[in-house]
Amino acid sequence: MSNQNNQNNPNNQDNNNNNFFNNNPLLAFAIFSIVVIMLFKSFVGEGDGLGTMMSPANTKTKQVTYSEVKELIKSGEIKSVKITPSYIEAIGGSEGSFIRYTAQNVPAIDRELIPLLEEKKIKYEGVMGNGLLSELISMLLPILIFFAIWIFIAKRMQKGMGGSILGMGKNDRMVDSEKPETKFDDVAGAEEAKEEVKEIVDFLKYPERYMELGAKIPKGVLLVGPPGTGKTLLAKAVAGEASVPFFSVSGSSFIEMFVGVGASRVRDLFDQAKKAAPAIIFIDEIDAIGKSRASGANFGGNDEREQTLNQLLAEMDGFGSNTPVIVLAATNRPEILDAALLRAGRFDRQVLVDKPDYEGRLAILQVHIKDVKLSKNVDLAAIAKATAGLAGADLANIINEGALLAGRYNKKEIEQSDLMEAIERAFVGLEKKNRKINETEKKIVAYHESGHALMAELTKGATRVTKVSIIPRGLGALGYTLHLPDEENRFLKQRHELLAEIDVLLAGRAAEDVFLGEISTGAGNDLQRATDIIKAMISVYGMSDVAGLMVLEKRQHSFLDGGMAQKDYSEKMAEQIDTTVKSMLDEHYSKVKQTLRDYSPAIEKMTSVLLDVEVIEGSKVREIIKEYEEANGLESRLAHSEIVEAEEKGK
Ligand code: ADP
Ligand code: ZN
Repeated sequence: MSNQNNQNNPNNQDNNNNNFFNNNPLLAFAIFSIVVIMLFKSFVGEGDGLGTMMSPANTKTKQVTYSEVKELIKSGEIKSVKITPSYIEAIGGSEGSFIRYTAQNVPAIDRELIPLLEEKKIKYEGVMGNGLLSELISMLLPILIFFAIWIFIAKRMQKGMGGSILGMGKNDRMVDSEKPETKFDDVAGAEEAKEEVKEIVDFLKYPERYMELGAKIPKGVLLVGPPGTGKTLLAKAVAGEASVPFFSVSGSSFIEMFVGVGASRVRDLFDQAKKAAPAIIFIDEIDAIGKSRASGANFGGNDEREQTLNQLLAEMDGFGSNTPVIVLAATNRPEILDAALLRAGRFDRQVLVDKPDYEGRLAILQVHIKDVKLSKNVDLAAIAKATAGLAGADLANIINEGALLAGRYNKKEIEQSDLMEAIERAFVGLEKKNRKINETEKKIVAYHESGHALMAELTKGATRVTKVSIIPRGLGALGYTLHLPDEENRFLKQRHELLAEIDVLLAGRAAEDVFLGEISTGAGNDLQRATDIIKAMISVYGMSDVAGLMVLEKRQHSFLDGGMAQKDYSEKMAEQIDTTVKSMLDEHYSKVKQTLRDYSPAIEKMTSVLLDVEVIEGSKVREIIKEYEEANGLESRLAHSEIVEAEEKGK
């Protein structure tokens, strides 16, 4: 987040009397410094600089006039003299009982003094600016020390919460306000969501119109959707279209350091927005403060969150519907929000900002290529097809990554191949060529991935293989088989497709089992996913005999994979589910193993090619299978035969 347009910069007098010092940090600083200096001075002693501190223990001090000092010198009473621009100090008396005569108000020029001292053979020294300097030091030193501490603390606090010192509860920086340039056109592929927020723009633009009619305007709108889908962007666009200030905060920033800070920040935020009205307040990650009190997932630290939440509720209830301030909040976990937040007059509207479909992805890509140099050969439709399941932020990233790759290859324009490589990276993490795996591991991975690939090609309903690789990638994956869906917009899956997915997932482990006679830990994730699919088929999609059509788990938000599911069934049912899951897994596993055995020469071939070149294309996989089938007069079991034909024609 940028804070260039910080409206509330500290020098800007803001007569918010509840926190005077915070709005006048310079004044606060000055007052504090003066106090410190006075303390320091009283500690050092009055009047005569550092002198008193430096004199021997048995010395009396006498204040005299300058002429008296001169008299004393003439009379031979004085042993030594110290001359500074602001005072003169003469030590008289004898061993054991020194007397120190000091005279302030020294004449600027006295041509007699030095010759006189010479004549009397009195030791003298001139201390250049001693008085003034020590005065200065005694004044500056504490200021400097104080300043250093101030900066130190301020830095730390800014890191934590962006606060200033005396007004710990206040925070000028956190409440960024800007007037975004973002327009609805910048938000692509979210047509429904845009439609739903359009009337907010109108209200912000012409508040009087609505007020005259007595219309009740929504105060809060909750933008719900997975990360990176453009919720922030949409909120900004609302402000941009209406050309009103945009106050943006993150929910988590409210509850970081000190108890009570969050609530007072909420108060400030609303105060500022009301002053700037019409305005938009945007609270990102509202779940950080709005977590359901009932969900009680965290221990301690709840008070702070609750106070903040209560303040937020109070603020939202506090302004009437004729204050044109609208609060937009974003979350990807609406199910954990406190019900109080969602009540009428608060966030009573929810707008779904979901992951884009094919058309949406194409539109988003078109927005983001505006700033880059793209070769004419780039086929955006193909990119959009290959990126099913990715959010807008991922797509923006792919374009940028593609540009970086093209730059690295020293190209003038971004080409299709750069974008495809960027997609691959987005899907499977960065290539880690430098990570060495040993030969045994390589062999295990090669068989494992060949198993996945073979099964994906032989099973109807599975997605075909795009690429198989045994080059280790990030995220702990030693190899991968990349499947990119053929058709765009797969929101629905049929039963046979889910079963196909299970077979493909099990094939990795099965290949290790059949060809190496020993299994490894590499299949853990596959098995987890296969199990999850079966469980979901039984309890969510009504696709089994155990539960029939009875839905056992309510998925409140299906777009949030792994969102909280409410279990709603008996112990006995739970047992039945477990046995069914296990028997289904066993059944599919032995079927998969049989297929792999039937095709073992093809697997051996794939594995040896993989060990040789590390990466093979999907077309190569299909070719190997076809060769084997033809050589042995087998009827082809290739599931994606139309692709095989197309590939052969293309040759
Ligand atoms: P969220 O707030 O939902 O996590 P953001 O709004 O922060 O997502 O999106 C991050 C970036 O991703 C945006 O700044 C934009 O560049 C890109 N982006 C996301 N969604 C879209 C979209 N629908 N259209 C264009 N760009 C998008
Ligand atoms: Zn696997």
